[in-house]
Formats: sequence, C-alpha cells, structure tokens
Amino acid sequence: MKMSNMLINTLREVPKEAELPSHQLMLRAGMMKKMASGIYNFMPLGLRVLKKIENIVREEMDNAGAQEFLASAVIPAELWKESGRWDVFGPEMFKLKDRNEREFCLGPTHEEVFTDIARNEINTYKQLPLNLYQIQTKYRDERRPRFGVMRSREFIMKDAYSFDKDNEGLDVAYNKMHEAYENIFDRCGLEYSCVEADSGAMGGAGSAEFMVKSEFGEDEIVFCSSCEYAANMEKAPSTAEISEKEDMKELNKIATPDVRTIDDLVSFFKTTSKKFAKTIIYEADEKVVAVMVRGDREVNEVKVKNAIGGAVDFEMASEAIVRKATNAEIGFAGPIDLKADVLLVDEEVKNMYNFIVGGNDTGYHYENVNYGRDFEGKVGDFRNVIEGDKCPKCGAPLIIARGIEVGHIFKLGTKYSESMGAKFIDEDGEAKPLVMGCYGIGINRTMAAIIEQNYDENGIMWPLSVAPYSVVVIPAVHKDEEQMRIAEDIYNKLRAEGIEVVLDDRKERAGVKFKDADLIGIPVRITVGKKIKDGEVEFKLRNNEDLEVIKIEEVICKVK
Ligand code: ATP
Ligand code: MG
Ligand code: MG
Ligand code: MG
Repeated sequence: MKMSNMLINTLREVPKEAELPSHQLMLRAGMMKKMASGIYNFMPLGLRVLKKIENIVREEMDNAGAQEFLASAVIPAELWKESGRWDVFGPEMFKLKDRNEREFCLGPTHEEVFTDIARNEINTYKQLPLNLYQIQTKYRDERRPRFGVMRSREFIMKDAYSFDKDNEGLDVAYNKMHEAYENIFDRCGLEYSCVEADSGAMGGAGSAEFMVKSEFGEDEIVFCSSCEYAANMEKAPSTAEISEKEDMKELNKIATPDVRTIDDLVSFFKTTSKKFAKTIIYEADEKVVAVMVRGDREVNEVKVKNAIGGAVDFEMASEAIVRKATNAEIGFAGPIDLKADVLLVDEEVKNMYNFIVGGNDTGYHYENVNYGRDFEGKVGDFRNVIEGDKCPKCGAPLIIARGIEVGHIFKLGTKYSESMGAKFIDEDGEAKPLVMGCYGIGINRTMAAIIEQNYDENGIMWPLSVAPYSVVVIPAVHKDEEQMRIAEDIYNKLRAEGIEVVLDDRKERAGVKFKDADLIGIPVRITVGKKIKDGEVEFKLRNNEDLEVIKIEEVICKVK
C-alpha cells in the first residue's frame, strides 16, 4: 500500500470526548470515526487490525475443533419468548418490528439462536460433541456507551456455543475453550488473567472471564498474593460467613430504617453493620456517597459528603426502598430480592439517583453491575472483598486491581436446551437435553485493550501479530528521486516476500511522516535518507529508541 493512496486522517490534538488512551489514539490515528453515541465506523487501517484479531481468533477456534457459522443479527422475538428472556433482557436490547408488526431484536447475544439451530440439526448422540462459533456484529443499547469501542452499542463478538451429551463432555469443551482463549490472548500480546466469575452458587467454576489488567478497566478483580486464585469482584464470594435464615430475618427488620439525615444513616450503619455488614463507602461525586452493606463485617470508614445512597446486600432479601430525606439527597436501597420484579423506589429519588444499583429497571441491574457504567464516581469501592482480605483458597492476603473483560466463558448446562426443548437421543435411547456452554470474545474491545497495554506519548505500539502493517518505508525527502526510487525498490522487495508494508510516498516533510508512523504504531520503520550515498538506510523499531544504520541489501533479511 502506498500512503498517497490511503484514506487516512491523523489528528495531532487529543479529541476532547475521549478519556481513555485507547479511545484517543484510535481516533487520532484515524482507525475509526464516531457516527453516533456508541456507534463507530472503522477506517481502512483500523479494519486491518480488527481482521488480524479476528483471524487469530478464527485460527484458534478452528484448532480447538470448533466450526464457523454465521447467524443472522436479526432475531425473531419468539425465540426469546421461548427462553423467557424477551421481557427480562431489559432496555439493552434493540427491539424492532417489521411491516407486519412482527417483533424482532438485533441480537445482543445468540444463545437462543444457536439452541434453535441445535434442536433442528442435532438428533442423536452420534452428532456430539459439537462446537459452533461465529464472528458477528452484536447490538446492545448500553446504558452508558463509553471509551470508544470498549463499550459501544454495536460491536463485533466471537461467540461460540458447545453442545454435549453430559457434564463431563461440557467440562472437556469448556477446558478446550479456556485453552484456546489463552492462545488467542497470548498471540494478541496481551497481559491478562483469567478470573472466576461465578459465586460458586451453581456448582462453582462454571464461568470465567479473561481480564486485561488496566487502571481504566471497568471491572474490579481480586487476586491472591500467594496462590493462583483470582475472581471478579462483582462475583467474588464475600469471605464473610452469614448464617442465612436468622440474619436475614433481622436484616429485613432493619432494612427500612427511618433515615432522614446523614447522621441517621451513619449511625444506622454503625449500629447494624457490627453484626451484618462491612460498610463500604464510595464517593460518587462531590454530592453523593453510596453505601453498600454486606456480610458479617465491621464498619470501615464512613466518609460523608452531603448526600447518600445505600444498598444492603442485594443477594439476601425481599424489596428495596429508596427514600428521600427531608433535607434532600438521601437515597437508601434496602435488600433486594434477585427475583423480585418490583423495586419500590420513590420516583423523586429515582430521578435524582441514576446510580441506585440493584434495579431501577426490572431485571436489569441485579447482576453484572459495573462501576463506571451503572454509576459514576471517583472512588470505586463497591466491594465484597477489601484489600488484604483472606484468600478463600489459601488464606493469604488478597490484592485488588482493575481489569477489562475481553472474554467470557460460561457453562450454561441445560438452561436453554430445557426451556427451548433442544434434545438428542442418547445411546440408551432416551431423549435428553443438550448440555451447553457459551464462549464470547469482544473483538473491538480486544483491539482497544491491546492499545491500553501498548502505547507511549507518541502513539500506538502494535504487537507485530495485530499491526495494520509490519513495516513502513519512508523516503526522507520526497523530492529526491534517488531516495524515492530506492524506497520504492525496498517496498517492492518486501512485498514480494509477503511482508505487509506501506510506502509513505506522500508529499510531506519527514517529520510529519515519522509522527504518523509512530502514531499509527507500525512496528518497523525504514528510513531512506542521505545515507543512501553509502548504500545505507536507517532501521528502527517502534518500541525501541535505537536507530540502526544498515546496508540496503540487508533490509529484507533484517525485517524477516
Ligand atoms: P460487560 O460486563 O463489560 O458489560 P458483558 O459481560 O455484558 O460485558 P458478555 O455478554 O460476556 O459481555 O459478552 C462477551 C464479550 O463481548 C465481553 O467479554 C466483551 O469482550 C464483549 N462486549 C460486551 N459488551 C460489549 C460492548 N458494549 N462493547 C464492546 N464489547 C463488548
Ligand atoms: Mg461482564
Ligand atoms: Mg454487559
Ligand atoms: Mg461477560
């Protein structure tokens, strides 16, 4: 590719709307353009990176014995009604109607579709095991799209679905995917960890997330300082032990206190949480302090500004009440039943606080609550576990860090196959529900996560495996015919070797070209300048300050 032919617009300024390095750099390097909130168009350079990641994913999925498939993004409502998710999925789902008033959605995920395919196509155990995957566009009307493609409303996901005849089969499929994911994220050059994302309530280790460590991650992860234990904070089991029934009764009693002032709230927490709670406070902004109570804990520290929102352990009780105090700005959420459809929220308070975790919207926020998405704040201390708590496996102190969820693997069991009647005939002649697993990777989020871990003040530093081009050849003075000729010659030779190379033949100063090459993040730069009179060019790696002068004939060998 010659850069003079490339559609590319780089920006020197940091775009105002972008907070995250990856978001800023993707815009500045002209990889993508925003069209609407959470909706982006990928430009040629950005698309090349996406395709590289897709291909790594494809190769590893194929290696693991999965088969590629492509389902429609438009899904009839009936399938979701069968599984019971049409009404509970919530406002994240983009719903639409055709001209005949038939309802559809734009798939936010495809469990129903693949279960439907399986029930139509799989009849006997002889067809099992089976793993089908696709790399396809998903739609989620995220409450708070942000950070560019990190959390967008349209994004590309690789989603795979495994079908087995029993739990042992599922374990094998799950472990294979686990391994494939490690290969994928290794090849993408990411530093990540795989964390448990399951409270253990469903038999344990049924779900794991691949988290890329990053200070800007929206998830919080808990690590053991000694053993390999790692979990998602959202799902990490509280290390407190609660003798359920008794405590629940009492918790219910205290859960609707007459809280009218901040002092009331503070004293409420101080008195009640001795037995029940670790109270964790986090400042949402100057005005708001949110409180969560959970487990058999001491009160930690109560920092109170002039407003409060609180939530008592939402795994445990029956309803939530949020009230407004006379002097305004106190919101308090009592225990919330995970299954309750009704959440009693004072309308006025509801309007005031959009961060009340645990359910302003039916079935929406009970799980998967994310700091930053579901509520904003400076100090993210919404925690089941605190720094230094004991590891549930070995007892060593726990460490807390932030992460970006790039992949998620999940043992579904027979949840969908039972609700949707996806059965096969087993060896014994009996009809049994298929045992399923599902496995997702966010392709564009992975791209952004790679940047989060690979950039400097000059721009992106792509790992070779996903770089849009491996090499850029820059003639320093475009008016110098000899430089241009040699640059073009090197470019052609590299291409002939199958190396992905760009020639920056634009009529620009060398400084501009260097800046762009650094910003775009091309791993190898070859500069054809004055030294050609000695038969030499400059060789430089993007991630290394050193310049090397090499003979023109050495270029191909060196690059390879
Ligand atoms: P999150 O917790 O960040 O909202 P999720 O748990 O809802 O993600 P999954 O349903 O597990 O996401 O989907 C599989 C993968 O798809 C995620 O691990 C992530 O990489 C990607 N993904 C999910 N939502 C988005 C989004 N809005 N934008 C970009 N990628 C996304
Ligand atoms: Mg998640
Ligand atoms: Mg989500
Ligand atoms: Mg997930």
